[in-house]
Amino acid sequence: MSRSAHPAGPRHADVLPEGHYAAPADDLNALDPKVWAHTVGRDADGVVTVGGLPVTQLAEEYGTPAYILDEADFRDRARAWRTAFGTDADVFYAGKAFLSRAVVRWLDEEGLNLDVCSGGELATALSAGMPAERIAFHGNNKSPEEIERAVRAGVGRIVLDSFQEIVRVAHIAQSLGKRQRVQIRITVGVEAHTHEFIATAHEDQKFGIPLAGGQAAEAVRRALQLDGLEVIGIHSHIGSQIFDMSGFEVAAHRVVGLLKDIRDEHGVELPEIDLGGGLGIAYTSDDDPREPHEIAKALTEIVTRECEGARLRTPRISVEPGRAIVGPTAFTLYEVGTVKPLDGLRTYVSVDGGMSDNIRTALYDAEYSVALASRTSDAEPMLVRVVGKHCESGDIVVKDAFLPGDLAPGDLIAVPATGAYCRSMASNYNHVLRPPVVSVRDGAARVVVRRETEEDLLRLDVG
Ligand SMILES: *Cc1c(COP(=O)(O)O)cnc(C)c1O
Repeated sequence: MSRSAHPAGPRHADVLPEGHYAAPADDLNALDPKVWAHTVGRDADGVVTVGGLPVTQLAEEYGTPAYILDEADFRDRARAWRTAFGTDADVFYAGKAFLSRAVVRWLDEEGLNLDVCSGGELATALSAGMPAERIAFHGNNKSPEEIERAVRAGVGRIVLDSFQEIVRVAHIAQSLGKRQRVQIRITVGVEAHTHEFIATAHEDQKFGIPLAGGQAAEAVRRALQLDGLEVIGIHSHIGSQIFDMSGFEVAAHRVVGLLKDIRDEHGVELPEIDLGGGLGIAYTSDDDPREPHEIAKALTEIVTRECEGARLRTPRISVEPGRAIVGPTAFTLYEVGTVKPLDGLRTYVSVDGGMSDNIRTALYDAEYSVALASRTSDAEPMLVRVVGKHCESGDIVVKDAFLPGDLAPGDLIAVPATGAYCRSMASNYNHVLRPPVVSVRDGAARVVVRRETEEDLLRLDVG
């Protein structure tokens, strides 16, 4: 990633401060298609449009801040994953990235399955009509009530995460007179994030049962003996925002190794493996994610090759992309409230949201880009930090970026690629109300999650 001391704009000293930023783009008005939803562009007046609607109109109608979701783009990406993996594999959208009933219906219509990881996500999925057999239930500490609800509903699989849960789910299923399809989540000693992966010693985390030391094999041994369970496969999820396929390669090798051991010990060839999600997206122009068809081809080849080597029938593969489907489909629209230049440092641009609608920057040091959305400008670029309105100095939305030097209160700015883990992680910190999610398609907008009101807030406070 390039760091540069670009010639400063009019409001800056000659040397730009330390930071993690590329040189400003040649044209700050340009919208890099890598980081924006498919239908985003600018109209003749220079206003950013999505699904044929100008953001100025969206802001007027729905207020700011707001998450603006491109439905056509969401469907395109969901379909691209589905098509890439074909009929011999399953794509489970990871609901934790962003879940609403509209999204569940789109997924259902596009032929995807759905991962949930709590009773709340399960309730959302079921209430929108997702067939239970296409739902997978995840989590490292599902409550007995959640398990019972999932088993009663008939979810297609529960992903077991501990020895205790193996017994718990078996017991609940049996007491309901059912045999629950389950996968066992293992940790293969691979952790992948972005451009790197580490292939040893990353079992030190709360999810899954370690392959190392024979624990995963022991888990399978116990699960196979329980009448309440039908063990359909092994699950592995190695990280997030991954660009490099070599982590999956090692994971697949180790998962197939376990399948082989299971076959040798029990005479059973488990029919499925799940390689999890975690595929990266472009948050800035520096990121180069892979297309679903490349990922599908790579994963299928790896698994097929490993199984041939182990003389196993190739199991049915499933994957669980969350971010890669929803992340790029939405941007957050903010109104600029104040513009505060700090001499020799940078300019702080305060917006009407912040860490309550995007915690990722504070939590993960995530990088985002930003664009002036309500107009274009030919002013010199200025280095900005986009910050929120919360009482917390870590309340940063975009750490380092360039915006036109004539940015002023009342301008609308948009932060792309906020479809994943922003609304779903949103909070009420400072009793700030959570923004709506507005979906746009073919020149029409509709609210899929409405803006929170003070009434909503006070309803929970019983005084
Ligand atoms: C979070 C998670 C995913 C989705 O991760 P993304 O980075 O959004 O693709 C998939 N599977 C499991 C088990 C997860 O915990």
